[in-house]
Amino acid sequence: MKRVHRTEVKAEIVREPGAKETTHRKLIDTPDGADRFVLTEFEVAPNGSTPPHHHDWEHEIYVLDGSMGLVLPDQGRTEQVGPGEAIFIPRDEPHGFVTGPDQTCRFLVVAPCERPPVRNVFLSEDPYEYTQMPEYTSLLERK
Ligand code: ZN
Repeated sequence: MKRVHRTEVKAEIVREPGAKETTHRKLIDTPDGADRFVLTEFEVAPNGSTPPHHHDWEHEIYVLDGSMGLVLPDQGRTEQVGPGEAIFIPRDEPHGFVTGPDQTCRFLVVAPCERPPVRNVFLSEDPYEYTQMPEYTSLLERK
């Protein structure tokens, strides 16, 4: 088994096209032995986004704290979501996330291990942006 605190997992900048002010921590990943699902915590800082995209696998999302807009391009709208809400994004349904100037959001994403990149379609060609890294405590520093 693996047990880990979020702050022991290094946050990585999300470098997908058009991503802004977004990091993720791979809490449970394939190197840990996961062979069906991975568990990732995302953190979107103010004025952040992950660009609308779609892919051949589902997301199961749980909002931990803060709030954000869930962008649904097919429906031409953005819904505000907050703590305690669970969201299911079926395969191939376009979706994205966005925060305003006073918003941050942390949420968990459960996704299958096998995610063929050829089907990951980003609906943006903008470069990613990030200005500051969130807190990170290595295992060595932990008391
Ligand atoms: Zn997605």
